Formats: sequence, structure tokens, C-alpha cells
Amino acid sequence: MEKIGFIGLGTMGKPMAINLLNAGYKLIVNDINNSSVDEVSKAGAEKAANAKEVAENVDIVITMLPDSPDVESVVFGANGLLEGMQNGMLFIDMSTIAPATSQKVYEAMKEKSAEALDAPVSGGEVGAQQAALSIMVGGTDQAFQRALPLFQIMGKNIVHIGAAGAGQVTKVCNQIVVGQTIQAVAEALTLAKKSGVDVAKVRDALLGGFAQSRILDLHGKRILDRNFEPGFRVELHRKDLNIALQTARELELSLPVTSIVAENMNALIAMGDGKKDHSALALLSEKLANI
Ligand code: NAD
Repeated sequence: MEKIGFIGLGTMGKPMAINLLNAGYKLIVNDINNSSVDEVSKAGAEKAANAKEVAENVDIVITMLPDSPDVESVVFGANGLLEGMQNGMLFIDMSTIAPATSQKVYEAMKEKSAEALDAPVSGGEVGAQQAALSIMVGGTDQAFQRALPLFQIMGKNIVHIGAAGAGQVTKVCNQIVVGQTIQAVAEALTLAKKSGVDVAKVRDALLGGFAQSRILDLHGKRILDRNFEPGFRVELHRKDLNIALQTARELELSLPVTSIVAENMNALIAMGDGKKDHSALALLSEKLANI
């Protein structure tokens, strides 16, 4: 069994690392948050002081970090991965970051004769805990085949999309659909509320028809229950829509509705709701409706 390094043990990384440990893999972990490291080391992982030390002692390194600058600092920074990566190693970044950053990391790893995959995920904390993540992968087929046994421990729907960056492009598409659908559900349920009809019955009726979706089901339920505990934070989804809009700009492409949803997320963050679940888009719709 190959020895695995895991960096970034937050909401998603912690349960993913624990699933690998439970499957019998040896893990060396690192996070700037010591309490997360302690928790995963109690489950059997070894600790490393920094990313370089992780890379020096494993065959494959996985990262699950918040944003592009975090991945850049772990890869390129002082005591970073590049200082410890050796010939033949594999780097798998499972964070959601800009496709352009993934491609830059891929090229840097190639110079070290190491492989790199971008493998962002969908499915949230529950998907990570239940090893049911959807994993969208960019990189070479050889690297994908090497990583597949690990992906099968962490996820269920695993798709090799294409070359480096293709996994992140797919995740951008995912976040556009999810963001716009939550916005649609938020607006529909706000109209129902303002009209004075029973909002729960509206959701029930819609769930049986053409407007049915997992988001109407799960996020619609959250809106009804006033449960805005994350889940997926507004600030992280705004980060993803920023990636979508930046990527669109590089492609000279207009994404008008995505930009409106991103602006609504900006407003929510300004209102102090950035750490709430993204279903809190309903709070903004309700505010605009003077509810
Ligand atoms: P999180 O903020 O809970 O966890 C990130 C972890 O990275 C934290 O423990 C943090 O301390 C650590 N970290 C940050 N900088 C570091 C550094 N320089 N060195 C070492 N550790 C560092 O975030 P999360 O919710 O686990 O999300 C991780 C990624 O997965 C994000 O890109 C997010 O968009 C994506 N994602 C999240 C969800 C979700 O539902 N939470 C779902 C799908 C994808």
C-alpha cells in the first residue's frame, strides 16, 4: 500500500482522511489548526510539521484546502510541497480552486517528475463522512489509475474528465448550477410566503412535478426549518462563483445570472451572513420582499 500525506483537515478533509485510515492506509497529516491534527492523529495518523516534511515521507500527497492562494502557499511556499516532492510521486488536490492554478501546479509538479491531479468533489460534509463524494478529475490517465483506489475509498461517482484543470472546470459548472438553483428555490418560496399560501405545501407540490430537484428538497427544507447552520458556507460558494466569473472572463464569456447570484452572496456576506449555509440566499430574498 502506498503511504499517503493529507494536508487540510477541515469540514471535508477530516472525514476523508479518516476514511483512508479506516481502509488501512498509513497517513501523515498536516494542518495549521492543531486541534484538527490531534483529532486525526488519535485515529492513527502521524503528524508532520509542514508540507515539505509530509512530501519527504510519503508516495502520494492529497490536499483539501479552502482556496487557490492556500494551495499555492502549500505547494510553492517556504517548507512547501515542492521542496519535498521526489521523482515518481503523485500530488492530488481535492480543493475547489481556479482551473488556471491547477494547471500551474501540474506544470510545477511535472518539472519535479511528479504527477498531479485536480480532483475537486461534490457531496458536502455528509458525502465526505459517508464516503459517497462525487469526484471530478483532471490529469493523465496513468495518474488517474494510480489514484483510483483512493478515490473509491472516499467517493462513489468518480469521473476522469480530461487533462489537468478539467476537474476544476467541471466543479465550476457544478457550482453555477447549484448556486442558481438555490437562488430559484429561495425566490419561489419567498413569493409563496409573501402570497400568504402554505410554503411547505408549495414545496411538496413542486417536488412531485417538473421543478423537482435535490436542492428544492434539501435546501428548500432548510429554508422551511430556518436551519442555516453550514453545510456549505456562503463565503465558500461566493469563492467558487468568483472562480466561475474569472474563468468566464478569461474565455471572453458572459455569465449574467451567475454574476447576479454572486452579487447576492456579496450582499449576504456584507449583512454578516457569510458563515451561514448557502441556503441563506433565502434570507436576502425575504429582506428584499420586506418579510
Ligand atoms: P475548511 O475551511 O473547513 O477546511 C480547510 C482546512 O485547511 C482547515 O482545517 C484549515 O486550517 C486548513 N488550512 C488552510 N490553510 C492551510 C495551510 N496553509 N496549511 C495547512 N492547512 C491549511 O474547508 P472545507 O469545507 O473542508 O472545504 C475544503 C475545500 O473543499 C474548499 O475548496 C471547498 O470549496 C471544497 N468543498 C467543500 C464542501 C463543503 O460542503 N464544505 C463541499 C465540496 C467542496
